[in-house]
Amino acid sequence: MSTSPTITTEMLVDGKLVPADSGATFTTINPATEEVVGEVADGAVAELDRATEAARRAFDATSWSTDHAFRARCLRQLQTALEAHGDELRALTTAEVGAPRFLLSGPQFDAPVADIAYCADLLERYEWRRDLGEREAFGIQSRRWLLREAAGVVAAITPWNFPWQINIAKVAPALAAGCTVVLKPAPDTPACATALGRIVAEETDIPAGVLNIFTSSDQAIGAQLSRDPRVDVVSFTGSTATGRKVMVDSAETLKKVFLELGGKSAFVALDDADLGTLAMLAGIAGVTHAGQGCALTTRVLVPRAKYDEAAEQIAAVMSGVGCGDPNDEATMCGPVISARQRDRVEGYLRLAEEEGGRFATGGGRPDRDKGFWIEPTLVVGLDNSARVAREEIFGPVLTLIAHDGDEDALRIANDSPYGLSGAVLSADNDRAWAFAEKVRTGTMSVNGGVWYGGDVPFGGYKQSGLGREMGELGFEEYLEAKTVAEPAQPATQATEPAQPATHTTEPATGAAGRN
Ligand code: NAD
Repeated sequence: MSTSPTITTEMLVDGKLVPADSGATFTTINPATEEVVGEVADGAVAELDRATEAARRAFDATSWSTDHAFRARCLRQLQTALEAHGDELRALTTAEVGAPRFLLSGPQFDAPVADIAYCADLLERYEWRRDLGEREAFGIQSRRWLLREAAGVVAAITPWNFPWQINIAKVAPALAAGCTVVLKPAPDTPACATALGRIVAEETDIPAGVLNIFTSSDQAIGAQLSRDPRVDVVSFTGSTATGRKVMVDSAETLKKVFLELGGKSAFVALDDADLGTLAMLAGIAGVTHAGQGCALTTRVLVPRAKYDEAAEQIAAVMSGVGCGDPNDEATMCGPVISARQRDRVEGYLRLAEEEGGRFATGGGRPDRDKGFWIEPTLVVGLDNSARVAREEIFGPVLTLIAHDGDEDALRIANDSPYGLSGAVLSADNDRAWAFAEKVRTGTMSVNGGVWYGGDVPFGGYKQSGLGREMGELGFEEYLEAKTVAEPAQPATQATEPAQPATHTTEPATGAAGRN
């Protein structure tokens, strides 16, 4: 495949596509083949500082945050441009992320790009100014208003597993809200982000400084953003361990922190559930994108009496799916992202054996010369206290756990430091619903329902995060709330203040995309 039209070595800083000051680059590689996909600018502290300064200036000194119509137009322009480059960008994503092609028509590309329109529509219909009515306080009858305003400069720090999904799920609502952004993608998948930067610079009117995209091989350079007093919001997706550091680093300047973190979600089969359906749903969820999804259900809870039968059926589905070339339309389980990630997953497989577990299928590497692969693996013989049942593995590995009825299943499902997602299966929909309502988690699937969508809030309870991404709640993460009161007018004279500016004039700095 040719990826050259979409790969640039450059970052987007203050409206310009720029290399690192030092000229340094780092390599992004194809995890299925270990071939070089591209060379990307290896930015350092000085360039990140300039990106942050540009975002601050664009927020403070232009009309971006108040010009709703212009923002909606820019977002629609961006969506159209990304769609026009769809074939190149999907190919790039398969090459850089190892993402199976079937996911590209969903969350790996098409769905988040389509959801940019949701953000544009939302900003146009959103109630930016709400009348809270009249009330007397301290002897003064007042009319109160709630104004929603852009929160400011957003640092968006993202992981490698779904780069378009996660980059867009932060950038689009933040821009819709009127914020300006510094996006720092994971070093494993920088080219998807620089491709976005090139399109923003060359094919949209998004003004200079409004969206900056900074790449670096330095995993921890994002800490500079968490500490920077010019940043108002850190919107972070990644591991719970890094999320803790982001929170600590942000504490000094008391900035708003929004965290989407890890998960160890439970797929629960109640005693009337059909095991064939369970095997298909849970087995496939476990191997999709080689298990590199934070919301995948990696603990499977089944009635003790049906444990062996469930193990056999889930193992059959997982081994039937196997691993495959991500370019093949039929592939569901591609490679893991890197040698580092493969080693990490293999460490958990050894641990499972040390803890007394066995593999009903998988447990090793498939026979391939190149790339980073792990066989779809079902761990059996352990309970919920095992580390492989408690810690996030981020590979195609499921742990099968026995339960002794609904109450026990609920106890086990909730016995986790995480609370990101979950699923329940029962022949009785009401019973499944009653179960779902008691699980302490941010998303639940009842009898195979799919909650994913740009209009649906996503996020975690407990150590899976703070706040919600996507949907109206996700948009509101990028807003501040201001309450204004004025002396009440007699009823006949009361007039509603004008809505915020929606003029279509260009912002003060003009469009920078052509720089
Ligand atoms: P990670 O935490 O290692 O890195 C995430 C991002 O943070 C990267 O851009 C990284 O460079 C940056 N980073 C690293 N140290 C930092 C620091 N001290 N300060 C600021 N930024 C720093 O995660 P990863 O390995 O890239 O991704 C996998 C993890 O992401 C998994 O735990 C997965 O569950 C989680 N994830 C969560 C969601 C969700 O929505 N809840 C979605 C996808 C992935």
